[in-house]
Amino acid sequence: MFKNISIQQVILLLTASLTGVIVLILLVFMTLGYLFVSSGLVWLIFITCLLLVNYIISKIIIENFVFRRIILIYKMIHTSQRTVREMKEDKLIHKSILSVKNDVVKWVEEKQLQIDQLTENEVYRRSLLGDISHELKTPIFSIQGYLFTLLDGGINDESINMKYLRRATANLNRLEKIVRNLETVHDFEMHKIELRKTPFDLKELIDEVIEDHMIMSDKHNVKLALKVGASKSYTVLADKERIRQVLNNLIANAIKYGIKDGLTTIGSYDMAEYVLVEVSDDGIGIEEEHLKYLFDQFYRVDKSRDRESGGSGLGLAIVKQILDAHDETISVRSTVGEGSTFAFTLKKR
Ligand code: ADP
Repeated sequence: MFKNISIQQVILLLTASLTGVIVLILLVFMTLGYLFVSSGLVWLIFITCLLLVNYIISKIIIENFVFRRIILIYKMIHTSQRTVREMKEDKLIHKSILSVKNDVVKWVEEKQLQIDQLTENEVYRRSLLGDISHELKTPIFSIQGYLFTLLDGGINDESINMKYLRRATANLNRLEKIVRNLETVHDFEMHKIELRKTPFDLKELIDEVIEDHMIMSDKHNVKLALKVGASKSYTVLADKERIRQVLNNLIANAIKYGIKDGLTTIGSYDMAEYVLVEVSDDGIGIEEEHLKYLFDQFYRVDKSRDRESGGSGLGLAIVKQILDAHDETISVRSTVGEGSTFAFTLKKR
């Protein structure tokens, strides 16, 4: 009932109550014969003065014990000096207790949201640091092992010297790839990468990328081809080299996580202003629970197996960053044992 009452109204209510109580007491005294006032004018002047005095007393009480505390609350929830000054001067006195409560609840909710976000960021930052050090540690320790063995005399052992040097080099290359990928992720996050959008023929690019992956697909016994009925030519507007990077990554993954004698196809579909590009494989597939994390940095479905295949879990994160920078979208659908399809859009010219 009193929730919608403003501070000004509280002052008036207190004034009326105080005056009422005093008048009631005086009436009781008059009935008992202790007091006698016959003139209506005297009553009128008396009650007017009483109202005035009670108003001043109520205002002082409410201002000191309620209003100042509410101002303190507003000082806490508003960071701008001006807002607090404005509040103090006129608005606050007419604000209802309910709306003061709502303002505070809103502030608490906003703060809670910020705290949740910061906690999430902190957890992410910590796990990211762990992931980075873990990724770097593996090749560094391998290189260290091979070099120490060679220094300990292995260099003169014909059966291992070249083999260990090659392995150390392979790990160095892996290390370089991780650092380069990390640099790309960082540059995208800091908006340091500028896209060079130009119109280009999408089919031509897909053909080039397929050609570049022929050796890899032969090695894995995976057939790589354009999707039948979805290989029309489209001119799209995007950064060609970045889109090449996207296709390289998706096709390499399709081959890497494909099955022996499997098939990887690349198709493009007309979607009015956009073209939908799909890279599909009939490989191992991905369980549903992993799909939403797939584009996170360092996320791998099967950490030990995926590391063996040379991945660091940064490829799809970069793919997503590139498409985000183009204001395009990427999605994935997959069934374990049947295969996966990664689909992304590109704007037609
Ligand atoms: P990686 O360099 O480890 O391959 P990515 O970011 O490219 O990293 O991929 C993240 C993870 O997603 C991979 O480790 C793998 O587990 C899974 N993945 C990606 N593409 C496929 C695919 N076509 N089929 C099955 N799993 C895939």
